[in-house]
Amino acid sequence: MRIMSRIPNPFASRWSYISIAAAVLILTTSAGALYIGSSAMGLFGDMRKTWQNFDQVSEIKITYLTQMHRYLGYSGMAQHLNDYLLHGKEHLLDILDIDLDQAKNAVDSYGLLDVNEDEKAALHILRTLIQKSRVQIQDIPKLRERGLSPSEIDKKIDLFPQAATAALDQLRMSWRQQAQITKQTMDDNAMAAEKLVHMSWAFIPVMVLFGITIFWLVNKLCRQVSAYENEKVALEKSERKFRDMAANVPGVIFQWYERSGGERGYLYVSPRCQELYGVSPAELQRNWNALSIHPDDKKRYMKTVDEAFKKRAEWSFEGRFLTPGGEEKWWRGISKPMPGNDEITVHNGVIIDISLQKKMEEELRSLATLDGLTGAYNRRHFLYKAATEVPRSQRYEHPLTVLMIDLDLFKQVNDTYGHGGGDEVLRRFVEIVRKSLRGPDVLGRIGGEEFALMLPETNIAGAITLAERMRTDLQNTAIPWDKRTIKVTASIGIAMLNKADKDIHDILARADRALYNAKAAGRNCVMYCEEPIELQAQATTERLEFASPTPRPLDVN
Ligand code: GH3
Ligand code: MG
Ligand code: MG
Repeated sequence: MRIMSRIPNPFASRWSYISIAAAVLILTTSAGALYIGSSAMGLFGDMRKTWQNFDQVSEIKITYLTQMHRYLGYSGMAQHLNDYLLHGKEHLLDILDIDLDQAKNAVDSYGLLDVNEDEKAALHILRTLIQKSRVQIQDIPKLRERGLSPSEIDKKIDLFPQAATAALDQLRMSWRQQAQITKQTMDDNAMAAEKLVHMSWAFIPVMVLFGITIFWLVNKLCRQVSAYENEKVALEKSERKFRDMAANVPGVIFQWYERSGGERGYLYVSPRCQELYGVSPAELQRNWNALSIHPDDKKRYMKTVDEAFKKRAEWSFEGRFLTPGGEEKWWRGISKPMPGNDEITVHNGVIIDISLQKKMEEELRSLATLDGLTGAYNRRHFLYKAATEVPRSQRYEHPLTVLMIDLDLFKQVNDTYGHGGGDEVLRRFVEIVRKSLRGPDVLGRIGGEEFALMLPETNIAGAITLAERMRTDLQNTAIPWDKRTIKVTASIGIAMLNKADKDIHDILARADRALYNAKAAGRNCVMYCEEPIELQAQATTERLEFASPTPRPLDVN
């Protein structure tokens, strides 16, 4: 019987589902927080990179811009042209060329950097102007040869025109714009990152709340699991106890059922079934009728079972069954229905072996009914039997006769052979009498060496025949005792039931009188009372054949 299966599994409880749901929620939240955090970090990283990039490029750009200014502006080319024109230093023309080269290098280098469209346009203007200035410088010696004064030459040659200043300003402006855009981007990124960081902060209480919930749920689940474990251990212990008890109880514990369709079977049968009844529990569970009930008890057994299931009432049965070895044993079964539904009736019960009890009952019964020495019924039981038989014979007007038998001179037997010899005679006497008896005849020892024999369905003639046979059998029997033999005789008085008899005592009294007369007539003979003719006519025929001169009618008067 599996009891364990009835414990609810805590892992299948709603708490476990809630815990799983909460764990999924906290995992999702954590993943979200992680994502947001990493996005914020990414933004900060981007900002740093943007700044580094901008910082590097803008430094180089400023350097180039400064170089452009120096070489193209008044401190560079214009100064050198002035000096050439005013002081006629020829080598300054070469220096002007160098200035232009340097300026061109700065412009080209600037163009290799990350530049936008405005810068590209400004650089283009500068390149064109540098090219123009180179041509102009080549024209200066010719102008001097034509006799133009330095101020006239200066007017003709515009090495750093307004356009160059505008282009340089455009470059500077563009740099400023880039700086502003970079700053704006950084500001935007910083704000976004800050927002994200704030959002992550918002996750902290949610996660703490989830953490507490998870802790509470896991704790609850753990407590349930531990309660489950404790209950499991307790149930295992109690199941073990039950199994030990079922295996050792002096009987068979069972649970049987009947379904509404009439199907019957055993839900459980304890292991001692094999030992006590020779049928294994498994066999009995396969076939509920496997217990071999004694054929004489089978019908009664089935009736009790049918009634118990039909009325949903307690079942109780006492009967015999046959072991596989053919031995007859007594058993008692009781069972009680459990409250249930209409579909199935389940009974819990027990079967015990009562063979020993039956044997003791039998012994007690024989002690109460039989004479210990001879095995004949005792006086009380003889009278009890007669109390049933006499009215029955009277009711159906059937013949019934009673013999009173007394051993002759028994005192002498005791005196001669001792009390043991006397006892042996009494035992053998009963054996001899029994040989002549039929099923319904009742023999009782009603005194020391006095016996009464009730013969239903027997008339006086039959009784006489039987009495004579017993008398002669006894007379002809030599009873061995103590290396000697004992010979005894008996006197018998017979009386027959008549309608006027109130009970057995009336017949016994008449039989006693006949016995007295038999004794008086010299012993070892049969005497009888005459009975009404109508009762004699119904006597059995068997005993009429015997005719003996010995029996004599008693003169009742
Ligand atoms: P009678 O022919 O007139 O009957 O003579 P009797 O000697 O049989 O006389 P009585 O009936 O008076 O004596 C019966 C004797 O039977 C007396 C008693 O000692 C003896 N007796 C009674 N019960 C037992 C018994 O259980 N065992 C033995 N051995 N003797 C018994
Ligand atoms: Mg006697
Ligand atoms: Mg006597």
